[in-house]
Amino acid sequence: METAEMQTIILNEIESRQLLEDQNINLNKYAFTRTKEEAVNQARTMQFPLVMKVVSPVIVHKSDFGGVQVGLKTVEEVEQAYDRIYENAARKGVLRNEIEGVVVQEMIEGVQEILVGIKRDPIFGPVLVIGIGGIFVELFKDVQLGICPLTEEDVSKMIEGLKGFPLLNGFRGRKQADVNALISLSQKVSAMAMENEQIVEMDLNPVILKENGYGAVAVDARIVLKQ
Ligand code: ADP
Ligand code: MG
Repeated sequence: METAEMQTIILNEIESRQLLEDQNINLNKYAFTRTKEEAVNQARTMQFPLVMKVVSPVIVHKSDFGGVQVGLKTVEEVEQAYDRIYENAARKGVLRNEIEGVVVQEMIEGVQEILVGIKRDPIFGPVLVIGIGGIFVELFKDVQLGICPLTEEDVSKMIEGLKGFPLLNGFRGRKQADVNALISLSQKVSAMAMENEQIVEMDLNPVILKENGYGAVAVDARIVLKQ
């Protein structure tokens, strides 16, 4: 008898980024490295401050493993962060050979972190999820859902429907976030899920929204594919 159980694979940040790049989804500059020397060499080609993250098939939520080091301002800090990532993982029981490497990437400063995702529903197909990032998602579940495909106006309404929308819209003297860039990025994500039947789930968390006119950048990505 056939089972309804679906075989899926979870792509790591690097593999997920490659699919997103094919769709011209805006990412920060990054490089995958396998040694400390390589990490330093790549760091020298980037605009500081930098972020370094662990890449491992046994680690999904990298920060839970001390695997995300942000705000690295010098080459020396890059070297220290590299060691720290391996030490933190070891302390959590991850073996050295379970770590594929470390991604070095530019740190993005913005107005607000946003979650943009896809969940494929067996009946409705790809459903776009947009939420206010950080504690808003975790604590207040402030998300909006929309069945793909979605027009610019549909996505715009989803964003305006967020309880935290004022955070993007200049609330109490905050900078205005680039909502148009978020709309365009969300539409690319929705198109990607419509085109690629294999995509079961996508999580761009966070997408960092910069000040209005300066864009939106995905700095973390996780894609789940059906095999
Ligand atoms: P994970 O979700 O697997 O724990 P992330 O890559 O999302 O790892 O990193 C955790 C947090 O670190 C993010 O939610 C974000 O706040 C911050 N962060 C990660 N990468 C960057 C970056 N390139 N620029 C700015 N902040 C970042
Ligand atoms: Mg994340």
